[in-house]
Amino acid sequence: MNRHVIQFSGGIGSFAAALRVAERHGTANMTLLIADTRAEHPDTWRFADDTSRLLDVPLTVVRDGRDPWQVFRDVRFLGNDRLAPCTRVLKQIPCRKWMTEHTDPEDTLVYIGIEATARDRARIPAIARNWRPWTTRFPLCGRWERPRTKTELLREAEAHGIQPPAMYRAGFAHNNCHGSCVRAGQKQWKHLLDVAPQQFAKAERHEEELRALLGPVTILRERRKGVARPLPLAELRRRQHAAPALPLPEAGA
Ligand code: SF4
Repeated sequence: MNRHVIQFSGGIGSFAAALRVAERHGTANMTLLIADTRAEHPDTWRFADDTSRLLDVPLTVVRDGRDPWQVFRDVRFLGNDRLAPCTRVLKQIPCRKWMTEHTDPEDTLVYIGIEATARDRARIPAIARNWRPWTTRFPLCGRWERPRTKTELLREAEAHGIQPPAMYRAGFAHNNCHGSCVRAGQKQWKHLLDVAPQQFAKAERHEEELRALLGPVTILRERRKGVARPLPLAELRRRQHAAPALPLPEAGA
């Protein structure tokens, strides 16, 4: 295979995957393919540009033109942790279209930077199936590599003189859609409310608009006495603000 296309998300896993491919195959036939969801934290593009400069490979940016909220309005469905049409519309379809127009599956490997956790490894067969007829590789999960923690991957970027994306520094596990991923659970949304209340407010406003349009849909659900019920972001925020603050630790504790 002569072409090496990195599905570069702006996340630390795809950065590390690009490094592994560069070490193994060089960068002359490498493409850094990134989909613009129009919802990323601005620092994602700084990180992407730094990576591009480090590897001396220009970014290849594809875009649908909409953001996730516009997609939800258009398909009349609010994404959630079970079904997120935004991924397909904003990432998979534009990337696949570019691959179809610019690469030969017989001569191209597609690299995905999923991390070597048991949960992520379980996704490999489905991802590989979705990419057919291209052949996929998962550099961080291969035999060439011992499993790395996210902290190790972030340190690797720093060792190359690149500051990791701001979302990791703000305590998020992933750098996608500015902490407002509809697949995230309550824990992440609460964290977003704590560290980026304006971004939470923006998501809450969009959710309310979609509820006005589509009925009582929500991103989050909660289970009470074994029964799942919708949990609007507005309700989550009210509960968080009503919750008593945790006591401060004793001096010297
Ligand atoms: S990161 Fe989350 S919100 Fe953004 S496109 Fe993917 S699934 Fe949708």
